[in-house]
Amino acid sequence: MINITFPDGNVRQYDAGVTGYEIAYSISPRLAAEVLAVGVNDETIDLNRPITADASIKLYKWDDVEGRQAFWHSSSHIMAEALQELYPGIKFGIGPAIESGFYYDVDFGSHSLSETELPAIEAKMLEFAREKQNFVRRDVTKEEALKTYTEKGDPYKCELINELQDGTISFYTSGNFTDLCRGPHLIDTSVIKAVKLTAIAGAYWRGNEKNKMLTRIYGITFPQKKFLDEYLQFLEEAKKRDHRKIGKELELFTFSQQVGQGLPIWLPKGAALRERLENFLRKVQKKHGYQQVISPHIGQKELFVTSGHYAKYGADSFKPIQTPVEGEEFLLKPMNCPHHCEIYKVKPHSYKELPIRLAEFGTVYRYEQSGELHGLTRVRGFTQDDAHIFCRPDQLKEEFCKVIDIVLYIFRTLEFKEYTAQVSLRDPNDTEKYIGSDENWEKAERAIIEAAEERGLKTVVEVGEAAFYGPKLDFMVRDAIGRKWQLGTIQVDYNLPERFELEYIGADDKRHRPIMIHRAPFGSMERFVAVLIEHTSGKFPLWLTPEQAVILPVSEKYNDYAHALQNRLEQEDVRAFVDDRNEKIGKKIRDNELQRIPYLLVVGEKEVESESVAVRKQGEGDRGTMSVNDFINFLHGEVKKEIDEN
Ligand SMILES: [Zn+2]
Ligand SMILES: [Zn+2]
Repeated sequence: MINITFPDGNVRQYDAGVTGYEIAYSISPRLAAEVLAVGVNDETIDLNRPITADASIKLYKWDDVEGRQAFWHSSSHIMAEALQELYPGIKFGIGPAIESGFYYDVDFGSHSLSETELPAIEAKMLEFAREKQNFVRRDVTKEEALKTYTEKGDPYKCELINELQDGTISFYTSGNFTDLCRGPHLIDTSVIKAVKLTAIAGAYWRGNEKNKMLTRIYGITFPQKKFLDEYLQFLEEAKKRDHRKIGKELELFTFSQQVGQGLPIWLPKGAALRERLENFLRKVQKKHGYQQVISPHIGQKELFVTSGHYAKYGADSFKPIQTPVEGEEFLLKPMNCPHHCEIYKVKPHSYKELPIRLAEFGTVYRYEQSGELHGLTRVRGFTQDDAHIFCRPDQLKEEFCKVIDIVLYIFRTLEFKEYTAQVSLRDPNDTEKYIGSDENWEKAERAIIEAAEERGLKTVVEVGEAAFYGPKLDFMVRDAIGRKWQLGTIQVDYNLPERFELEYIGADDKRHRPIMIHRAPFGSMERFVAVLIEHTSGKFPLWLTPEQAVILPVSEKYNDYAHALQNRLEQEDVRAFVDDRNEKIGKKIRDNELQRIPYLLVVGEKEVESESVAVRKQGEGDRGTMSVNDFINFLHGEVKKEIDEN
């Protein structure tokens, strides 16, 4: 008999060789029907593989990442099987599960696959799914594996096998298709009820542009048809919210091939919006004792050698810039921290002066491959809402609490109602690879955990996920349609103070090393604005939105009144413009609603006479007539409600 420990700590005894499926069945047949894979001592395996020794297990269902991964990875086999039947002689690369679905990289020879061929592949996959094909695992020797794929004439699989250790190689067969694979897979294909192949793309074999370009087919599958319908609806909604599309419609930002890819250009409306965001953060930071600094976009190469960033970014990023005469070398800065360390060093510090909090909207540059660039979320130049806090070890917890307060204030104001925080700690079994004393690490880790608890954060603790220089706290938000985005981060750093030999004089009159905290609540202005666009679908809060109101004269006769009104509003800090196009009022209302303008102010004979406006709220319709003064006060009141500073 062996002891099987369940996640709740319960232990049950089973015969050695019991499978995950049998364990699930022993609990309830219903559970057995839902379970997709099993975690055995943190390794996910097939449900029908024997468990031969005492183990801790987790049964994974569709709701678990591990369950979905086994489901989608198995689906990639089914897709390959369908492709093999429909396109005999093709060669296969790799076919992993991804965050949403799976792909397979395929060499179609001279054939170029088109979207119109996808439905036939989907139909074939469903046919195999209904056949209830079993996934059968077989361990093979390296020699046999190589022989199989050499005979098949598949150079990609041979290349993969050559890199594997003999004794660790397995094949999985479903129907007529055998694949080199480690697993895990479903027991059989019958649980796959809905299939959608979502995209075709080119992908270099092993991501190397010197290799052949293969065809990557993306797909997703579900255990219920209903889930696929929901997913397609979600994709439709995500497409509508795409920040690249909305950014263009609202004239917020652009990219120019002439300026260079991955370098966002903020248009007037976007720049003004970003400035409002920056001022909002500046104000709360000032309240929390931050001081603004400004540093250049480049720094001498030596600076980044000292900081260690050259070793990390040097070879794979933008090359150094050289001066023509002196032969100096500069790097575009990938981080603001080295500059801030130099600012700290401008004068000696006593323990009484700490913490020192230096903030900067600092623009940094990091090379990304052109294929990786994506709107404002993956760029080559971006501005971090950066700050570095230099503090004593005993101040760490309080500083963390304060930064968490700023982050939560931002989330509250911008209506990110769901968020989680991830605490990343070091691996206690491998302390060698981390810099800093055990004592400091323990202190810092405790400080983060306690700060998160005190502020009531929902946290996930990840052991071994800390950076080598210190533990950290990362925030993930869930947007209006349920997608998760990583935003702000707070990181403890023992490394840079060491490298830059930062010091303060303690109460004991001796020299001590301060601890540095890196923090960026938005992450970067670019990424944050992208997330905000997708979260709000471009309907920004009133305080932030480019135009708060549009004035719509019902005919040309009232254009003068409209423009005078605009001036008046401008003086009162209301952002408004006049739509004086020679169009019917109905069309003007529709057009401006589509532009997501929060308030539409219709003016005609009656309004001119009584110095008033007929107010419509975007998406909600008529709000009645208000005097101009009342409207101004009303709008300011609404803005005030949004930015609740308490
Ligand atoms: Zn597989
Ligand atoms: Zn930093």
